[in-house]
Amino acid sequence: MNPLIEFPNTLHQTLAFDNISTAHFMPAAQHWMSVAKKRQDDIVANPEPPSFFNTVEALEFASLELGVVTSCFFNLNSAETNEEIQAIARELSPMLTKFGNETLLNRELFLRIKAVWEQRESEELSQEAQRLLKETYESFVRNGALLEGEDREKLTAISDTLSRAGLSFGEHVLKETQAFEYTTTDQSMLEGLPEGVLIQAKNAAEEKGVEGYWMGLDMPTYMSIMKYASRPELRELYYRAYASRGANKNEFNNEEVIKTLVNQRLAKAQLLGFESHAALTLSKRMAGTPDTVLSFLEDLKKLAKPAAQKDLEAVENFAQEQGASLPLRPWDFSYWSERLKKATLSLDDEILKPYFQLQGVLGGAFEVANRLFGLRFKKNTEISTYHEEVDAYEVFDAQGSFLSVLYTDFFPRSGKRAGAWMTSYKSMYQKDGQTVRPHISIVCNFTRPTADQPALLTFNEVTTLFHEFGHALHGMMAEGTYPSLTGTSVYWDFVELPSQIMENWCYQPDALALFARHYQTGEVLPESYIERIVESQRFMEGYATLRQLNFGFLDMAWHHNTSPFQGDVVDFEAAATKDTQLFDKVEGTLSSTAFSHIFQGGYSAGYYSYKWAEVLDADAFERFEQEGIFSKEVANDFARILKSGGTVAPDVLFKDFRGRAPKIDALLKRAGISAE
Ligand SMILES: [Zn+2]
Repeated sequence: MNPLIEFPNTLHQTLAFDNISTAHFMPAAQHWMSVAKKRQDDIVANPEPPSFFNTVEALEFASLELGVVTSCFFNLNSAETNEEIQAIARELSPMLTKFGNETLLNRELFLRIKAVWEQRESEELSQEAQRLLKETYESFVRNGALLEGEDREKLTAISDTLSRAGLSFGEHVLKETQAFEYTTTDQSMLEGLPEGVLIQAKNAAEEKGVEGYWMGLDMPTYMSIMKYASRPELRELYYRAYASRGANKNEFNNEEVIKTLVNQRLAKAQLLGFESHAALTLSKRMAGTPDTVLSFLEDLKKLAKPAAQKDLEAVENFAQEQGASLPLRPWDFSYWSERLKKATLSLDDEILKPYFQLQGVLGGAFEVANRLFGLRFKKNTEISTYHEEVDAYEVFDAQGSFLSVLYTDFFPRSGKRAGAWMTSYKSMYQKDGQTVRPHISIVCNFTRPTADQPALLTFNEVTTLFHEFGHALHGMMAEGTYPSLTGTSVYWDFVELPSQIMENWCYQPDALALFARHYQTGEVLPESYIERIVESQRFMEGYATLRQLNFGFLDMAWHHNTSPFQGDVVDFEAAATKDTQLFDKVEGTLSSTAFSHIFQGGYSAGYYSYKWAEVLDADAFERFEQEGIFSKEVANDFARILKSGGTVAPDVLFKDFRGRAPKIDALLKRAGISAE
């Protein structure tokens, strides 16, 4: 028996991990894919005229079980993988892509959806149903369903070109990164670097059979050198190498690739009836239009730029006092600002960690959720999990009704990827009069307990836990009908609101008092430490904000082009970023040619969303600050955002909560950028 085909009757219909073996995934995925295909065929073959229910809703539920099996599979591929699972992933991923494409290109299916769309006024549909119809119809249209003949072929050709260009962009950056190496036998060159980096460099040299120390250009090494290496010539060497990736005159140069990418993206957008790639992308974002994003970036810039200049001045003054010569160059800033931070804040992870025992912090997150939303968490060892270190909780709402299953998986293992994330094994939905509650998971890589010490978190890990827990609340509290709209299935620039807002409680004395206690003495985290934590959150925020804006403007410049780009990449970048640069350009360096977020990953016309999400969370949290961080009334209003997921438009949800559209003021205040 395959427990992913015949789902056994377990508590809350949780997955029977104890009985699932790797061999079950492929047959189950194939089985449910053919079931989904058959259901789609039935929709098309239905002799009844198309209606929302026999077409759009039927399509929504056609892949329900396939979704459960693939979620389970890809969640395990992230949290508990092995070579066998990776081999299946290589086979399964293209199958799923093909299935998805065939669905979106199914002409007869689209004609029925289009008929439902055109008669939408005559069917009496709930608000949620209207939203599902709109999202379904538009996803087909954005895939070219309305295009005929030659235009259809053009779109296919563009998509091919784009995926190939995206791949070569990434390969070039990778090759350039790998081509760099630094070796030295002179330890004084590495002065200032943390012990761990030195050990690693020594080991790497041994492995490569060279004498002394060996270092590459990977991100962690680069960051360590910028922050800690006291020899400016080493920092300069690394800066120039890092910032010229893809810009060197060799076969890995990305300037032509960028031209292809931006021009083909533009061509695709215009084929689909949009003026630019940004306009196409942003039509499915809370921000909505390029103009909104551009004026958002401009508004922030007005205050961030003077603040950044002040930050730079402070760092320059400090550096000069310490004997450095001015002006500072771009490779000097991180180093001197790190030194300044140490001199003024003296806030050390080792001092704070004893106050943040993992179980205490998790209990704190549960307690905050209880005070705000009345949730209760009960560990249940009867629920089967995929690893002995994973805990399963039953979560109950304020009325005592079962709300969700929550899995927690906290420690690093081989087979788990780095980082921290929230994911779901089952979305929330209602079907045939039955309500199905979600199964949510948070996965982290925290420091393990040792023989004589419990797991103690750095402050950064504390906020990470609250962040992922915020995503989990969004998933667990979901209410709605359609799985593609519930929980965290919201527009991309809205999804970080629930997670980031939860981090705010980690800076509040009244919240910290609930869980930040010394694991040996029981002493509550001293107020003076909290003040320093808050202050360190603001340290160099003006500078950091301007840097984010610089990337945001560059991204928008490339993607809100409304006619094909013919010019010079170097000049274009200089023009797009001239207002957000504090240092003179270093000859030969270029951001665009290694800007993988927007040219390889999915952040094109989306880089602004980092700051956008911060604005939302700071603005929303300000209401808690004004009316009480545990105010039931505010929490109730905020719960509507959490419960609604993507069933209601994000700007509507925000406005209902705050009584107005989002404002940047609260973020600027929190970052210490505005006067008050
Ligand atoms: Zn997040």
